[in-house]
Amino acid sequence: MGARSPFDGTTVAIGTVHGKEAAFAPAFRRWLGAWVAPTVALDTDALGTFTRDVPRLLTPEEAAAAKARGAAAELGTATGLATEASYSPALGGFGPMVHEELAVFVDLERGMRVRHGIRQHVHIAPRRTVRSESEAQRYLQRVGFPAQAVVAHTDEGMRKGIQDATALLALVRRGPVELEPDLRAHMNPGRRRTLRRLSWLLAARLTRLCPGCGCPGFGPVGVVRGLPCGACGNATSQVRLDVDGCPRCPERQERRRPVEVADPAACDACNP
Ligand SMILES: [Zn+2]
Ligand SMILES: [Zn+2]
Repeated sequence: MGARSPFDGTTVAIGTVHGKEAAFAPAFRRWLGAWVAPTVALDTDALGTFTRDVPRLLTPEEAAAAKARGAAAELGTATGLATEASYSPALGGFGPMVHEELAVFVDLERGMRVRHGIRQHVHIAPRRTVRSESEAQRYLQRVGFPAQAVVAHTDEGMRKGIQDATALLALVRRGPVELEPDLRAHMNPGRRRTLRRLSWLLAARLTRLCPGCGCPGFGPVGVVRGLPCGACGNATSQVRLDVDGCPRCPERQERRRPVEVADPAACDACNP
């Protein structure tokens, strides 16, 4: 690290009951010289969960921002951090899902909020009702149990975070059980890897200062579409420019992508 980080020696509160501080601490220590401390009281699940027991009322970005502010308030720090995952079907509902993991970092003293997300395709086993021990075993093997925990829905209710095969098979002996993977960070090894990757990207971004006002967190804020078709020159829906911006002032910078023309297969004019 060259110049001193704007966050050197500070503590960043992370809103989590799912051990996410372990994913963020190394990158924040190395790039920013900052400590990451988890909340103990903040009820992150109250803001919405994957398992549908609490409906999501906020967008993922608003939910993450609320958790980040709540974390800073709980620990009395100037900065707070939280992440929020969303999963949506790709390709008309078949095959892989799109997993977007979004981190929001707030700095109450600087009055700024940085969002940084990553999107990737992931395979998530669909929910399935099992009626026998052998069906249950097959499902568990498929999801990567017990490192990947499961959620069990029965007539009596829902149990999250199951990593004990004996307990699960006891449920199955009492009747049909609907199973799905538990996607919370401490129950899902794939998501923890994604969080670590996101932690390095976010920490690196927070070392980048705005050329206009010096605020940390300059980085990707959007794209400009309209990459010209390689055959006819018509503007396509493909990305022409990436836009970097400041979390606090209107400063923007455009970056060209290495590809200067679009594949004619993506062109509406060439494929009427
Ligand atoms: Zn700025
Ligand atoms: Zn064309």
